[in-house]
Amino acid sequence: MSNTDFVLAVEDLTVSFDGFKAIDSLNFYLDRNELRVVIGPNGAGKTTLLDLICGKTRASHGSIKFRNEEMTRVPEYLRVRKGIGRKFQTPSIYENLSVFQNLEVSFPRGRGVFGALAFRRDDEVRDRVRAVADEIGLAGQLDTEAGLLSHGQKQWLEIGMLLMQEPELLMLDEPIAGMSVREREITAELLKRICVNRSMIVIEHDMAFVEQIAHKVTVMHQGKILAEGNMEQVQSDQRVIDVYLGH
Ligand code: ADP
Repeated sequence: MSNTDFVLAVEDLTVSFDGFKAIDSLNFYLDRNELRVVIGPNGAGKTTLLDLICGKTRASHGSIKFRNEEMTRVPEYLRVRKGIGRKFQTPSIYENLSVFQNLEVSFPRGRGVFGALAFRRDDEVRDRVRAVADEIGLAGQLDTEAGLLSHGQKQWLEIGMLLMQEPELLMLDEPIAGMSVREREITAELLKRICVNRSMIVIEHDMAFVEQIAHKVTVMHQGKILAEGNMEQVQSDQRVIDVYLGH
């Protein structure tokens, strides 16, 4: 299969931990501007798949191509520079800094030729901070200390810190955990907006939220893909009902 049209092409990916295949000969393709949600029971391999794509975990076998470029053996920090951004569940904001400063410190400094330090002008950084703050709905809170933000706002700020790195692919792990109903709605709109010019993979359990945001759903089970398609297709798939939705 040609990878040309995919922002991400994962082929025959396998990772073993002490002989146990957490990801087993998996193929996964993501279109540009696609918002893909990955679902499946605990232990299915969802987190491990994202760990492999961002480079936190090294594959035992197979290949990961991002924008047609081989990533499989590229270290994690370089994958970030190439445009793969991952938000982990553990909080990473600086509570004592303002929203502005949190975004400012996330601005990439090392994108010059051969990794040389690329100095950015202050006004360029400020413009980018303002644009991102606007995108995540925190333009009115730039001077607020991050520790004083609501739970939802902190999550949006973290997404903003990722956006500062100008990723082409964002990966989020359960982005609405702990959020109020209103915050979930705002997050759904935010994620859809982000995908207008980027791609995204989201791990999520809340099926109402999945239905709201997903262009396409991948169902994982025992390190493999059990089913893939739109919400209607996966929801009516008996294998998916048996291992996941029916529980
Ligand atoms: P999910 O995110 O779908 O709940 P995970 O990707 O976290 O599943 O885990 C898939 C399987 O791989 C689980 O059985 C888990 O125990 C195992 N696993 C994940 N990471 C490691 C690791 N670093 N060492 C050993 N086993 C692991």
